[in-house]
Amino acid sequence: MAEDKQATLWVAVIGAGPAGYYTAEALTSGEQDVRVDIIDRLPTPFGLIRAGVAPDHQSIKNVSRRYEATNQRDDVRFVGNLSLGRDITLKELQDLYDVVVLATGAAKDRPLGVEGEDLNGVIGSGAFVGWYNSHPDYKDLDPDLRVASVAVIGNGNVAVDVARILAKTAEEMASSDLAQHAADEIHSSAIKDIYILGRRGSLEAAFTPKELGELNALENCVALVDGTQLPPEDVDAELTGATKKNMVHLRAMAKNSADAKPTRLHIQFYRRPMAIIGEDCVCGIRLEETVVEDGKCVGTGKSEVLPAGLIVPCIGYRSSPLEDVPYDEWRGVYQNEEGLISDGLYCVGWCRRGPTGTIGTNKPDGVGIAAKILEEVTAAGKAGRHGLDAIVEERGLTIVTFQDWKKIEAAEVEAAADGAPRAKFADVDEMVSIADGS
Ligand code: NAP
Repeated sequence: MAEDKQATLWVAVIGAGPAGYYTAEALTSGEQDVRVDIIDRLPTPFGLIRAGVAPDHQSIKNVSRRYEATNQRDDVRFVGNLSLGRDITLKELQDLYDVVVLATGAAKDRPLGVEGEDLNGVIGSGAFVGWYNSHPDYKDLDPDLRVASVAVIGNGNVAVDVARILAKTAEEMASSDLAQHAADEIHSSAIKDIYILGRRGSLEAAFTPKELGELNALENCVALVDGTQLPPEDVDAELTGATKKNMVHLRAMAKNSADAKPTRLHIQFYRRPMAIIGEDCVCGIRLEETVVEDGKCVGTGKSEVLPAGLIVPCIGYRSSPLEDVPYDEWRGVYQNEEGLISDGLYCVGWCRRGPTGTIGTNKPDGVGIAAKILEEVTAAGKAGRHGLDAIVEERGLTIVTFQDWKKIEAAEVEAAADGAPRAKFADVDEMVSIADGS
């Protein structure tokens, strides 16, 4: 394709997850000549599809085929293994591209804000999920699962994912892409009791019915709910939507017997973390009983200690602050006006609006940002990808292209055990050497 530098709008999208791909797709779907480089610090594309979506939820990962189609176009390029801050600065990218879009997600765990949360054995869901999903940052996390009891904090779908992955047997995970290092630990663990702890009640819980229902269909683990923590049954007739469906599952769990299966998953409501107990490592968590008033969680002053050797707070995420990018400390996102941070600098996805919604929620987000960019920015004859390639060459950096990634993917598929879709690599150097054929 001939490139007229004057007419080409050069866009660098930072982050190759769903928000980045939907933005690239929308930017290049119209008449205007727009070229997009999707830059990621990892040698692998697809962000949370690869490192966040649960390894036993393979059908959700099929959406990556759509991103792959975006990458087949001449006007979209994946530039993996190139890290903003380490290999290139934001200022350099802004000099090369008309627009830089941050689509970097929300990779940091929100703190619980209670005493003891720095103890060994407290592992936020970002790290824990990254570990069992082969994220290179967490491959060496090595959580100690020689514990009888685990407390998973939060009533969202991430809490449900974490509890389910800990509870499923090796056979139940055989068709997943669970990291081998995690499978080795989880399937030989001493875990007998897993607690999912909500600070509010069942009506306020954020998990969705399909995900909740899966907890009541585990091979080796029985899901238990204390029926006295559920609203009276006559409330059910007034419920609608997800809350109604969740209640059906919760009432069924309340009828389960604790000795029905070898391990137990307890869903407890109205318990808020007060302190994590332990000296060198965790041995329990102090929980205060709560009530819900006007939708808010209010402490009753009554507390108890729940013994637990591992605590996984699944209470949401924050974006990572970036030099020279204004940051909203309260919300944990980049300060922005409907995605605009400053002239030529935009954000999209979780780093724009916070860590909520499904993968599909990123589509309207990407479409909206693309429309805003095309309306607000005109091409200024910048060097674009030619300039980036020159810097890469000059600095001796090894980038991973989409074709290179396909080699990594093929090697993962080849290495998979029978029934599993892939055996994911977690080591960046190993992936880069597969990509460059060495
Ligand atoms: P989430 O849905 O926002 O749930 C966070 C949970 O943490 C809430 O129950 C919240 O309680 C609780 N929490 C927050 N701060 C707390 C504190 N200090 N102490 C105790 N509890 C606290 O977040 P998520 O589970 O991380 O999920 C993020 C997004 O990804 C969600 O939109 C989710 O649906 C989506 N997701 C979807 C799937 C799927 O579709 N299969 C899987 C995983 C994630 P309050 O409500 O009281 O604040």
